[in-house]
Amino acid sequence: MLKTSGKKYVAITGIDSTLRPGDDFFQYVNGKWYDSISIPASQAGVGTYMFMNYPQRIRLQGILDSISQSKNPAGSIAQKVGDFYASGMDTITINKRGYEPIKPLFAKIEAISDLPSLMNFVINELKVNNPSIIGFTVSPDEKNSIMNIAQIYQTGIGLPDREYYFKSDSSTVAIQEAYKKYLTTLFQQTGSNAQEAKKNANVVYDIDKKLAVSHKTKVELRDVQANYNKMAVTDLAKRHVNINWNTFLNNLGAQTDSINVGQLSYYDALNKLLKTIPINNWKIYLKATSMERYADDLSKPFADASFEYTKVLSGQAVQKSRGEKMANVLDNYLGEALGELYLKKYFSEDAKKRMLVLVNNLQKAYGKRIDKLEWMSPGTKQKAKEKLFAMTKKIGYPDKWGDYSKVNIIRATYFENMVSATTAAYQFQLAKLGKPVDKSEWYTTTPTVTAYNNPTANEIVFPAGILQPPYFDNNADDALNYGGIGMVIGHEITHTFDDQGAQYD
Ligand SMILES: [Zn+2]
Repeated sequence: MLKTSGKKYVAITGIDSTLRPGDDFFQYVNGKWYDSISIPASQAGVGTYMFMNYPQRIRLQGILDSISQSKNPAGSIAQKVGDFYASGMDTITINKRGYEPIKPLFAKIEAISDLPSLMNFVINELKVNNPSIIGFTVSPDEKNSIMNIAQIYQTGIGLPDREYYFKSDSSTVAIQEAYKKYLTTLFQQTGSNAQEAKKNANVVYDIDKKLAVSHKTKVELRDVQANYNKMAVTDLAKRHVNINWNTFLNNLGAQTDSINVGQLSYYDALNKLLKTIPINNWKIYLKATSMERYADDLSKPFADASFEYTKVLSGQAVQKSRGEKMANVLDNYLGEALGELYLKKYFSEDAKKRMLVLVNNLQKAYGKRIDKLEWMSPGTKQKAKEKLFAMTKKIGYPDKWGDYSKVNIIRATYFENMVSATTAAYQFQLAKLGKPVDKSEWYTTTPTVTAYNNPTANEIVFPAGILQPPYFDNNADDALNYGGIGMVIGHEITHTFDDQGAQYD
């Protein structure tokens, strides 16, 4: 066991010494732990990330608790983070409001009378990240990764993916039933009687299922080439007259003459269904998608209904504490602001430097391994190493922080705070359309316990969140850091050459 400054870094309690490490190293190292560990009731699983996520949220909660209690200058990052958190912790006000925050949405749905007004609702809700039937985003062009383009992808279903609608094994059926029950409860909570609520739930489920038929499977989605179909807007507009792409883009404020259609089959199906499904059924469907979107942010009966469904889906037995939930919410909506506060307390420049050394060494070792491959031709080796050493390495935190100047946060209104944050996030995303990709942008927040490989930019990213024990410790011996975060670094580098990464230059 290695020790540094009195700390123990390697947990040996899980070792099953009755086994020979050479026979089954996994069981030898983890056996006892694996056979005796149980999943905490408020979590959906257990493992290294889960193991770190929980204490991480407690750390964030600590920051949030203290910042929400201090006096912060109006409009400052601290004020926005602190007041957003306080508004979300104020369950008395949230419960008192019931579903009042989404009543204006319901009124808009009631006012829908035809296809154009239905599409208009869909577009306006996209602007606040209430997505319903169209999945729209602005992101780098996979075939010209220096430019941001408009992208649409399959969406519209409530269950996690298409398989859930067509499998008939008992656990899938239980999930289908839980989902229908969830929808029924949402309708009951917003004024429908039991019979009507059940009927509405079935209407929604039927539409979901019709949309799911056209969805690609998870395996099909891994084929990056097959999911890239850049099309001229004029062609798309002719093909989908009911969706009416010209009006869609105009009203969204998206100026572009082409769109990458991730999954064309979905939009072909949607275009037909918009005409064959009665408007009144679409209105019921839109109420459901809006309630699903916001259930967690409304009063207790809604959050409870959402959890009852989650429980069946994920196996998580009890709800997370309000504070843990709010730490997640703040990370979602004001992640970079929270990240700035997190850094001050939990990350150092020294740690960043040390981590860079580790990544550089892993890169070198990877290059040597490529050299040693017997099956690879010298030309391919050369190309592989060029790609390996061209990699961008992002460590700890972004060079410039997100701009939250347009986000208005007040203590009294949690729901409206969230809407303000999503509106600003949408505007930020839309402003990227047709512009060169900002290479300094991060796709995860600083406190997140994760690492990723972004193939369009050939970059590997390690936020401060994962740069802590047991993965990384600036005070620990090299051996420990190579055994921990070194494994993660190697994993991320490998993605550059796997079935997906290998498709990018
Ligand atoms: Zn991975």
